[in-house]
Amino acid sequence: MQGIKFVYFDLDDTLCGYWDASKAALRTTFELHGPEGFTPEEMVIHWAEAYREYAPLIKTPEWYPQYLASGDVTRKEHMRRVLERMEILDDEITQKLADHYRFQRNANLQLFPDAITVLTELKKRFGIGLITNGPADIQREEIATLGIEDFLDHVWIEGEMLEGKPKVGVFDRATAAAGCEREEILMVGNSYGHDIEPAIRYGWKTAWIRRPSDVPPSAKHAEPESRPADKPEPTVEIGSLSELLPLLVA
Ligand SMILES: [Mg+2]
Repeated sequence: MQGIKFVYFDLDDTLCGYWDASKAALRTTFELHGPEGFTPEEMVIHWAEAYREYAPLIKTPEWYPQYLASGDVTRKEHMRRVLERMEILDDEITQKLADHYRFQRNANLQLFPDAITVLTELKKRFGIGLITNGPADIQREEIATLGIEDFLDHVWIEGEMLEGKPKVGVFDRATAAAGCEREEILMVGNSYGHDIEPAIRYGWKTAWIRRPSDVPPSAKHAEPESRPADKPEPTVEIGSLSELLPLLVA
């Protein structure tokens, strides 16, 4: 891949295993603090069904402003809906599950094994940035937990920009900050819809990272996202971060 000057990474499930951390956290949380009479497996199913119902509402005016600032309110509402499905209305248990899930998810969050090597090598030759969707507090917490701040020349967080990928404004800001031409910027991301398609349309190069483990706990089918037949192809598809090195470092 020729002519790249700046590399933007997505965070969750690109640099770190967010869904793996989420799944481990849900199991532990429901095991330790779930109401009696329900197995953690049953509760994860309720969590997944509540997520499918509630996730679309998070972008509505009732929830989005709160979600941008902090994940706390929407995470608690999600847990309230989980318990409601089980005919339990208990604010104390709701709060305990929401808090413990946040704590455990952060405790389980890990960079992919090749992330530090790749960031170190790329940092010698390119500007490096992060573009991540999610609440400001949670995304800042993840960056701190993972210890990657020193690698990053620019960090763009949905909760701080008040808009997220795939909005064009995000790519406008990120391009201006990178200080180079659109075709000199590479986006590395796991989500076709949020990271790759909008970057292609904007004129950036793209590396779509696809791992078999990239499946949310709420997914109905245990298969990673695929590209719709009528949508444009990324510049490259890769299976791990380390595949970037031979492409970018001569
Ligand atoms: Mg992601």
